[in-house]
Amino acid sequence: MSKILTGIGICGDLVIAPLFYCEQEISLPTENITDINSELTRLNQTISLAKQELSDLYEKTLKQYGQEKASIFEVHQMMLDDPDFYESIKNFIENKENIFQAIQKTAHNFAKMLADTDDPYMQARVADIKDICKRLISILLGTKSNYMMEQPSIILAKDLTPSQVVTFDESKILGFALQEGSANSHASILAKANSITTVINLKEIDKNWNGKTAILNAHTGTLIIDPSPEQINQAKKDLEIIKNQKIALEKLKGTKTSTKDGKTIKLYANKNDIEDIDKALNQDPEGFSLFRTEFTYLKASAYPTEETLFNVYKETLIKAKGKEVVFRTLDIGADKTAPYFNLPKEENPALGLRAIRLCLTRQELFKTQLRAILRAGAFGNALIMFPMIISVKELDNTLTILNEVKQELKTQAISFKEDLQVGIMIETPAAALISEDLAPKVDFFSIGTNDLTQYTCALDRQNRELLPFLDTHHKAVLKLIEMTVQNAHKYNKWVGICGELASDMTLTETFLRFGVDELSVTPPNILPIRQKIQSLDLSK
Ligand code: PEP
Ligand code: MG
Repeated sequence: MSKILTGIGICGDLVIAPLFYCEQEISLPTENITDINSELTRLNQTISLAKQELSDLYEKTLKQYGQEKASIFEVHQMMLDDPDFYESIKNFIENKENIFQAIQKTAHNFAKMLADTDDPYMQARVADIKDICKRLISILLGTKSNYMMEQPSIILAKDLTPSQVVTFDESKILGFALQEGSANSHASILAKANSITTVINLKEIDKNWNGKTAILNAHTGTLIIDPSPEQINQAKKDLEIIKNQKIALEKLKGTKTSTKDGKTIKLYANKNDIEDIDKALNQDPEGFSLFRTEFTYLKASAYPTEETLFNVYKETLIKAKGKEVVFRTLDIGADKTAPYFNLPKEENPALGLRAIRLCLTRQELFKTQLRAILRAGAFGNALIMFPMIISVKELDNTLTILNEVKQELKTQAISFKEDLQVGIMIETPAAALISEDLAPKVDFFSIGTNDLTQYTCALDRQNRELLPFLDTHHKAVLKLIEMTVQNAHKYNKWVGICGELASDMTLTETFLRFGVDELSVTPPNILPIRQKIQSLDLSK
C-alpha cells in the first residue's frame, strides 16, 4: 500500500527514486566526570579540529558553490569563536558534566534562545547551532559527518544541516524529503541554489522507508512512498509534461515579452540579495526591479558600513551586466527585524515603525544607504525606490534627504550617479488613492500587492489562520491597481507590479489591459509569464 505525505514544496520539480534515510540520532555517554582539566583539554582540541574541518569545508564550498554559500561555514567558525558559547560549555564541564552533555546542553540553550526571537532569520540559525554541536560530537566520537549512498536517491531526514547538504555526494542527490525544515534555512538555500527537488514539513517520516521507492513532487508538495504502478505511470507522464514545458520555455529566452497584437512590457525579476544572481539571469529577466536591500541588513550582526553596502550594490550591478536594477531602500520593521536595530516592541508592527518611516526617523542610517546606492550607481544601471510612502509630505522629505546626500557627495568630490530614476512603491491604499499627487514627483511607481492586499483588506499577511478570508483577486485591490496605473500615465510615468500577484497568470491579461508597463516576478516565473503574454491578443 502506498502512503502519501503532504508538506511544502521548496524548489525543483519531480523525482522518482529510492529513499535514503539519513540517520541523525546517536546515543551518548551520560555519566559525570572527575577529571575536569583533561575534559577541558579535550574540548580545546575538539574545537580546533572543528575549525580546521570548517575551514576545509569553506574552501570546498567556495569552489563548488561560490562565496555566498561558503560564508555559512565562516558563520559556523564565528559561532565557535563566540566566547559565550565556549564559556557555557566550560561552565558545564566545571560542574562535572561530561563534554558531550556540556556541548548538547549549550547547543540546546543557544538554540532555544534563537528560536524564541521574533526574527525568522535568527530562528533559521537554530539549524546552524545544531550543526556545530553535531560536528563537535562526531569529532569526539571519531565518526565522519559524511553520508555515503550507493545509488542516486532522495534523502529522507528529520532535518538537514548545511554541512550535511554539502557533504553528500552531489551527483547522487535527487531530492530532499524533510520532516521539519524551514524555507529560510541554509539547507533550503543550498537546495534552491542547486534546484534540488525539496519538500519540507512532511510531518511524520519513518526510517523504515529507507530503500523504498518514492515519488517526490515539489509542485504538489507531496511524497509518495511505495507508489502503485499507476502512480508511477502518472508521475512519468507528469515528468514528460514538465520536460516538454521546459524545452518550450527555453526557446523563449531572448524573445520579446509582447502580446500577439504588439503590446510590449518589461518582464523583470525580484531579487532579495546578490546571491544566485547568475542563476536568475539564466531565466532571462529583462532587469531586476525589486532588489530588497534589507536582506543584507538581516544577514548582518551589526549595521553594515557604507563600504560593505557599496560593494554589495556595485557587485550586483556588475553581475546584472547593464540591466536595470531597482534598489528598494531599507524595508526593516514588521516581520523583518535584526536585533541590532533595537526596534521598539509594538502592538501592531505591520502598522508601525517600518520601511521609510524608520529611515525618516533614523536619518543617518538612511543616508549611509543612499550614499552607497548612489556611489554604486556609477557601475551599472541603478534605479532607486522607496517603500511604504503614504503622503506627499513623506515623499518630499525623502527626496530632500536624497538631494542632501547627492550634495554631500558632490562637495566631497566622490563620484556617483546623479540622474538615476527615482520611484516609490504603491503598497498602501493611501498611496494608491493619492497616486495622482505623487506621480508628478517621481519617475515610476511599483505596486507592492503583498502589502496593498494586507492593508486594503485588513488581513495580516503573516497569519496563516486568515487564509480562508483572503481573496487575492479582491476587487478593491484590483481597483486600486487600475487607478494607480491611470494616474501614473496621466503624467507619463511608468508603472510596474512587484508583489506576488505579478506572478498570478490568471491576472496577467487584466494587468495588461489596465496598462501596466512592467511585471516583476520570481526568476522561475519569468519564462512561464513571457509565454502567457505572448499567447494574449488584447485587440480581441
Ligand atoms: C509588497 O508589499 O508587495 C512588496 C513587494 O514588498 P514586500 O513583500 O517586500 O513587503
Ligand atoms: Mg511591501
